[in-house]
Amino acid sequence: MSWLKGYFRRGIGVDLGTANTLIYVHGQGVVLREPSVVAFDDQNRLLAYGEEARAMIGRTPQGVRAMRPLRDGVIAEATFAEAMLKEFIGRVIGNRGFSFQSPEIAIGVPSGVTDVEKNAVRKAVRNAGASQTYLPEEPMAAAIGAGLPVSEPTGSMIIDIGGGTTEVAVISLSGIVVNASIRIAGDELNEAIIRYLKKVHSLAIGERTAEEIKFRLGSAYKTVENDKYDVRGLNLMSGLPRTVTISRGEVREALAEPLVAVVEAVQSTLERTPPELAADIFNRGIFLTGGGALLQGLDELIANETEVPVFIAEDPLSCVAIGTGKMLSEPSYRRVLEQSLVHS
Ligand code: ADP
Ligand code: MG
Repeated sequence: MSWLKGYFRRGIGVDLGTANTLIYVHGQGVVLREPSVVAFDDQNRLLAYGEEARAMIGRTPQGVRAMRPLRDGVIAEATFAEAMLKEFIGRVIGNRGFSFQSPEIAIGVPSGVTDVEKNAVRKAVRNAGASQTYLPEEPMAAAIGAGLPVSEPTGSMIIDIGGGTTEVAVISLSGIVVNASIRIAGDELNEAIIRYLKKVHSLAIGERTAEEIKFRLGSAYKTVENDKYDVRGLNLMSGLPRTVTISRGEVREALAEPLVAVVEAVQSTLERTPPELAADIFNRGIFLTGGGALLQGLDELIANETEVPVFIAEDPLSCVAIGTGKMLSEPSYRRVLEQSLVHS
């Protein structure tokens, strides 16, 4: 087996997500975890990356902007996305005493992406110094990271809910059999909270506040507790700062619409699943990954609507990164790896 170890030793796995970028190194685990955000000045000079840049969102002085270079799971601002990836990969290669400078890189892409979008990622990875690029589909990487038996002749269903996209996929024998990819995920939930506060309470809030409300008070399924949270924002009538108290029940109402879309994507995927695989999924359950998996009660909502047991993967935010890394380092995923090789 030692030759196999040698063959599969050099790669790093990357999850370039709309919300977060993670890098996984074999034997070391997730070594980098940063928000996918850059800050730059009016001459497009990059000032900060990751957490440092995220802290600037909505708080920048004139001439400085902080933004996310990915939107809906794909690269929207190519130059900034490339610079960000290069910075993060550089930090990992530079800091870890790596014996190589141009590693093999496996980086997840949403299953619905176009060739143009795929090409943008490939180019960014190559410019970041990859010797060989693999572009596995995110649900496959997520399933591997969640520990599902993707190479076996059995059906596994994964739902990966990130910032920009929700990916639903049924996997068997190292391939995706049926899938759905919708551009409704964590960001839409934040936007739904913004819309609700505006409509019902005439209160304007920013994206970060909306996300904070989602973390503290968000839920997808009825709960006994109905705790409250004081939200500060701008009164749309007077234009003055104001505090509004909202309850868990209200936030659930606000989130209902985008969550229906997620449930429908799951149902439509199940409907298109061949019977043998559907039976496997009914027996073994559906697995949730991505940050959206952490929304309280989402597992219950989906289980209730589909009548299939639903489980949240261990460390759902890290599954895609772990999966891309494992693909490179573990021989049992060789077929998945070969299928995702990009010739450039
Ligand atoms: P991406 O793959 O798009 O980068 P992630 O898998 O990193 O996305 O998940 C980020 C999303 O998960 C964000 O929309 C964030 O608000 C959401 N999220 C993270 N933690 C929680 C939580 N505890 N409850 C609800 N949503 C969460
Ligand atoms: Mg993701």
